[in-house]
Amino acid sequence: MSDIQIGSKVVKFGGSSLADAGQFRKVRAIIESDPQRRYVVPSAPGKRHSADIKITDLLYTCQKLASAGKDFSEPLEMIRSRYLEIAKELGLGFDPTDELDRIAQRLREGATRDFAASRGEYLNGMMLADYLGFPFIDAADVICFNESGTLLMTETMMLLRERLAETKNAVIPGFYGAGPNGEIITFSRGGSDITGSLVARAVRAEIYENWTDVSGVLVADPRIVKDAAVINTITYEELRELSYMGATVLHEDAIFPVRAAGIPINIRNTNQPSDPGTLIVAGDSADSDAQTGYTITGIAGKKGFCAINIQKAMMNAELGFCRRVLSVLEDMGISFEHMPSGIDTMSIILAEDAIKGREKTVLSRIRKAVEPDVCEIEHGISLLAVVGRGMRRTRGTAARIFAALAHARINVKMIDQGSSELNIIIGLLDGDFEEAVRRIYDMFVNSALITKETETD
Ligand code: ADP
Ligand code: ASP
Ligand code: MG
Repeated sequence: MSDIQIGSKVVKFGGSSLADAGQFRKVRAIIESDPQRRYVVPSAPGKRHSADIKITDLLYTCQKLASAGKDFSEPLEMIRSRYLEIAKELGLGFDPTDELDRIAQRLREGATRDFAASRGEYLNGMMLADYLGFPFIDAADVICFNESGTLLMTETMMLLRERLAETKNAVIPGFYGAGPNGEIITFSRGGSDITGSLVARAVRAEIYENWTDVSGVLVADPRIVKDAAVINTITYEELRELSYMGATVLHEDAIFPVRAAGIPINIRNTNQPSDPGTLIVAGDSADSDAQTGYTITGIAGKKGFCAINIQKAMMNAELGFCRRVLSVLEDMGISFEHMPSGIDTMSIILAEDAIKGREKTVLSRIRKAVEPDVCEIEHGISLLAVVGRGMRRTRGTAARIFAALAHARINVKMIDQGSSELNIIIGLLDGDFEEAVRRIYDMFVNSALITKETETD
């Protein structure tokens, strides 16, 4: 490692942090307030207000229209005016016009979906580099994928290290890289978080700061629980569970690269830079006293699941029953989330998307494979995860969760507790989802606050 990288911080700024010129100014102030903030990973401009459209979404729309041979001038104009407005208001030396023309040309020539989407970060990276006076490094030169779109970690680390060792500062756009033939490939949505994590690992950063529009990871989704409390410290494992289950504040795959190198992640708020945010650390370095003090760390969940319910008398005595059912899914390339079972019943919970359009085939193949008495699909299921490293040593957590749901007359369709006792997953009907999150939040956070207040009275 070269000297210039020692103690450096990698800072990633999300879409809303770079949505307009005013946000760019905040970002520069944050970077300039700490000279260790050397390597910057920007997203494409996001929403300026709730009814706004992200640049990435506009680019996807352009590509869709272009590939259907339709006129895409309207979304393209919206993209153009956003970048030009930022450049003008900031008085940038860099004029994005030529790049925008090139993007339009590529779209007309049949650009791929990934290429189109990547241009949001590419162009924003060029603008930010100019504004900060930092060198721009094209992610296509340093982030490598194989032909099937899987990240090549070793090659990526080598290229990033080689390139970053030469420079004290840099802007590296998030979200994309290149395949073996130089073709642009993106991560899945929200993937700039992964780029930030890779850069942090490459320079062995002291910390990976992920700047967004909330003051950290909150105990529950702020769109469901208003003024949800901030989690001070969370472990990588807990956050992965939460982000997998829908706490979209950090991409679930952004955790592996830094975890392996023991680099902490700090989620911070661009609009409130003095807030300490959430620190994401390894399990053994998580100070238990720094926990929220609510037994649970967070609640997350999502809609869009279904259950295949199977019944057969004496199912438990039939050797290989489960395996034959699961083989059907495996043969059809369908993965599932959970498999709660009784003596004569089993259910398989899976994402609606995974089975859409193939339901009839799945059911008929299962019927053929195990000749069940009943085999049907139930739609409209949500999964909710209550996550917390503190649950392992606290008795009665499950009782409190289910008491909260019972009081609200919410019917629980499934319960699953992992062997690590890090989470309890609950299956519910979609219509009960938001209320369930609020009730569990109240049970653990609001009632904990009331207890604390009474204790100090
Ligand atoms: P960025 O564009 O900065 O990457 P994202 O939109 O990807 O930001 O992530 C931040 C958003 O994640 C928040 O505005 C919030 O609405 C949402 N979110 C969902 N669950 C949580 C949670 N538990 N804590 C914080 N934010 C959450
Ligand atoms: N701009 C991309 C998206 O909207 C990637 C990101 O923001 O992380 O998904
Ligand atoms: Mg994001």
